[in-house]
Amino acid sequence: MEARGLKITNIKLDPYINVDPGTMSPFQHGEVFVTDDGAETDLDLGHYERFTSSTLKSVDNFTTGQVYDAVIQKERRGDYLGKTVQVIPHITDEIKRRIKLAAEGYDIAIVEIGGTVGDIESLPFLEAIRQFSFDMGKENVLYIHLTLVPYIKSAGELKTKPTQHSVQKLREIGIQPQIILCRSERPLNAELKDKIALFCNVEKDAVINAVDVETIYRVPLEFHRQGLDERIVEYLNIWTREPQMDRWEELVRKINNRNKAINIAVVGKYVSLTESYKSLNEALVHGGIANDTHVNLKFVNSTDLQEEQGDISKYFEDIHGVLVPGGFGVRGTEGKILAIKYARENGIPLFGICLGMQLAVVEFARHVCNMENANSTEFDADTPWPVIDLLPGQISIERKGGTMRLGAYKCVLTPNTRAMEAYKSNVISERHRHRYEFNNKYEETLVEHGLVVSGKNPETSLVEIVELKDHPWFLGCQFHPEFKSKPMNPHPLFREFIRASLAYSNKT
Ligand code: GLN
Repeated sequence: MEARGLKITNIKLDPYINVDPGTMSPFQHGEVFVTDDGAETDLDLGHYERFTSSTLKSVDNFTTGQVYDAVIQKERRGDYLGKTVQVIPHITDEIKRRIKLAAEGYDIAIVEIGGTVGDIESLPFLEAIRQFSFDMGKENVLYIHLTLVPYIKSAGELKTKPTQHSVQKLREIGIQPQIILCRSERPLNAELKDKIALFCNVEKDAVINAVDVETIYRVPLEFHRQGLDERIVEYLNIWTREPQMDRWEELVRKINNRNKAINIAVVGKYVSLTESYKSLNEALVHGGIANDTHVNLKFVNSTDLQEEQGDISKYFEDIHGVLVPGGFGVRGTEGKILAIKYARENGIPLFGICLGMQLAVVEFARHVCNMENANSTEFDADTPWPVIDLLPGQISIERKGGTMRLGAYKCVLTPNTRAMEAYKSNVISERHRHRYEFNNKYEETLVEHGLVVSGKNPETSLVEIVELKDHPWFLGCQFHPEFKSKPMNPHPLFREFIRASLAYSNKT
């Protein structure tokens, strides 16, 4: 839709009861994405930002928890004037109000409802969008149903039954989808598409196959090839120019022409699920695209590292760069510190993000500045060298949800540093999500021993970026640069990290 010149926004509705995913385990929910305005949101907002030019806001993601919270507060204020407060119309009205608010000012709002048709918890959301076309006029609302068409290996067959059933379920509650997007491992042939069209009561060319492709960034081209955008503008009765897909074609060409390859070790504890570090993985791919390089990720479990007695070099054979991402809780932190030490001593490019930066500071304090048992007070409240600590404002906070340093903050860069070299700008803005901070009390000592402070918040003087001079590329940042990386505009720090790792791989 953007390639056709339309102004779009994306909204994600999550039917679970948590107010936001900020308090959920990455194992359960995947990554928590952070917006500029400081909302902790579903990771899908990250996909939306990577695929479009939008910068999403807190209104663009809401949950059952938020909806009920708002309705209950109104009820307690007496705003319902003695009425019985019910799912229909009060909850559904609140859902519709929020969609309208977030959609205001755009040509098209693409609203995704999480979960699966048939879930008890998503019923109020489906009822709300059913009413939506009633309220707004049929020509202004389009229903797209996303369905899985499983491939049964032993039978060598794609099955359309689940699709028939979920569409039936939707029709039971009064929603007739107009377009059906079929996710599948293998391509659907014309016969299967026709079958789905007939059974699900949609036009033949409105059955679109979302088939697995070699890169996720081919998806817009694939949808366009099947005419999805044509159907959408036709059903919504919108006139647009021809879509300009050349940027996407160019991107896919670049991706397919990468002629180098490097291996990056990602040292974390949520290693089994790529969804836990979604934006990070994508940002690394983007950094690779900028350097014509395939970036192979090797997940190293930090708890394994820590249990290893002595030599850890076997984990880093064939590794050209080490990335230590963000995280919470003490488990695995000593393993991450070992990885950082290894990278620092062996001249392997190191990129520390948020917790990764904090632990890089701890490692430097312990092993270069002789601050024995230096730590973050998150992990050792009694450390003699609290090089990472809570700010006074965080100490009294007891509620966990939404109380970290969240969202975009400015950072002023120091000239002649790797950070400045990467960004080519004096002032940057990046997104944060953490409670603990670099302790400025130790800045002088750390700097005397060779730590470079290359970025600071202009208002609070909080240290946002540190690096090392006598190292090929060693940089830690307190913010999460991965949230702002886009395939067509790779983040400068990821671009430079991959460039340095590539240079390291050429040497070894
Ligand atoms: N646990 C650390 C803090 O709260 C780091 C958080 C993170 O990496 N996102 O400050």
